Amino acid sequence: MKIDIVTIFPDFFRGPLDYGIIRRAREAGLAAIEIHDLRAFAHDRHRTVDDRPFGGGEGMVLKPEPIFECVEALNIAPREQRVVGRTRESVVLLSAQGKRFDQGIANDLAGLERIVLICGRYEGVDERVGKYLADRELSIGDYVLSGGEIGTTVIVDCVTRLIPGAVGNEASTRQESFTANERMFAGDGPSSTCASGGLLDYPHYTRPAEFRGMGVPEVLASGNHHEIRRWRRRSALEKTLRNRPDLLDQAVLSEEDKKLLAQITGGES
Ligand code: SAH
Repeated sequence: MKIDIVTIFPDFFRGPLDYGIIRRAREAGLAAIEIHDLRAFAHDRHRTVDDRPFGGGEGMVLKPEPIFECVEALNIAPREQRVVGRTRESVVLLSAQGKRFDQGIANDLAGLERIVLICGRYEGVDERVGKYLADRELSIGDYVLSGGEIGTTVIVDCVTRLIPGAVGNEASTRQESFTANERMFAGDGPSSTCASGGLLDYPHYTRPAEFRGMGVPEVLASGNHHEIRRWRRRSALEKTLRNRPDLLDQAVLSEEDKKLLAQITGGES
């Protein structure tokens, strides 16, 4: 996969994309990430990329020309083809007003060959970029950041680890929090050992078994795989109910899950 990032702060990405899974994916040639300095596409001596908003108001707005020229220089398929899915390319504008990024969107993006991410700054980006150049506008959550760089890092991290081969054990990306997509639990359905099916992940423990008087649930050392699986599923349901009850409405629940949920809400152990 080729990932292009358009930003006025290219140095920002030194570091965040150089560790762990992303680093290995880059080194293995699974992800080619390039950072493009928007200022290189400005036309004046001062390399101006922003201007005052039409209609008045606070702050500055990123101008359309450098952004259009930068993306056009990347030889991306025309927007008409991208919006109808005739090409496996996408141009994403990071925006607090975008559709909220989630694991499902990450999964869609991971199936593409090329993604361009445009980082906004200041009061935002001239609307014509979102309307006529980008084919998606994505937000990483309901809060306002000072720029699109952190959101871009979040998306690149999340998508890169879904590229086949990026994570050593592929099953592990299928068993994590939020994974409700069918492609992701092909074969081992939502009632497997894991917190798939759109729930939060189950709790993990490692050695030592006893740490400052804090123990580990006994069932995990029992060697009884059936009981371990049941405990994990139940814990995932409990945690989801406690922290993210909204996810339960969308989750894929088995008959066993429904029984476990009834036990949890009924206060049975
Ligand atoms: N005036 C805008 C906020 C601009 S913040 C508003 O109220 O919606 C400047 C830039 O930061 C945006 O152009 C966008 O690229 C980025 N940004 C801010 N919040 C974001 C979020 N939640 N998700 C993704 N990008 C965000």
